[in-house]
Amino acid sequence: MTIFEKIINREISSYIVYEDELVIAFLDIMQSTKGHTLVVPKKPYKDIFEIDEKTLAHLITVVQKITKAIDSKFNPLGINLLNNNKESAGQTVFHFHFHIIPRYKDDQIRFNFVNNMDKLTALDYEKRASLIKEALL
Ligand code: AMP
Repeated sequence: MTIFEKIINREISSYIVYEDELVIAFLDIMQSTKGHTLVVPKKPYKDIFEIDEKTLAHLITVVQKITKAIDSKFNPLGINLLNNNKESAGQTVFHFHFHIIPRYKDDQIRFNFVNNMDKLTALDYEKRASLIKEALL
């Protein structure tokens, strides 16, 4: 059982900010920034590959609501949404969740994208796009 199931079952304490039949949201214990919140389905889907569409669709509307609530009360400069899938991508709790991370001046959070544009040809882009489109058929 993951730590999030224990939170859902009230076996361990947490700071719950929202709950309905399908979804729960509580403060991330780390509080990477003020108001850092996790939105979690009550069923223990491991990651984006497991969660069912209906639950995900509902969950993202809850993410939006809570993002707006955080924005109105903490007045951050911006807000990042983050979802890690699998250990190599930084997932540490294997129960699907979205992070809502309000951003403030000098908050030390860094998401570094790598720009590979100068190493790629148009053909590289074409091939990558084709593979994704093929899988979507
Ligand atoms: P991730 O690395 O994306 O799997 O995120 C897992 C998150 O769960 C981390 O940001 C942790 O700080 C958070 N976390 C772990 N245990 C608890 C807990 N008991 N209450 C609230 N958040 C937690």
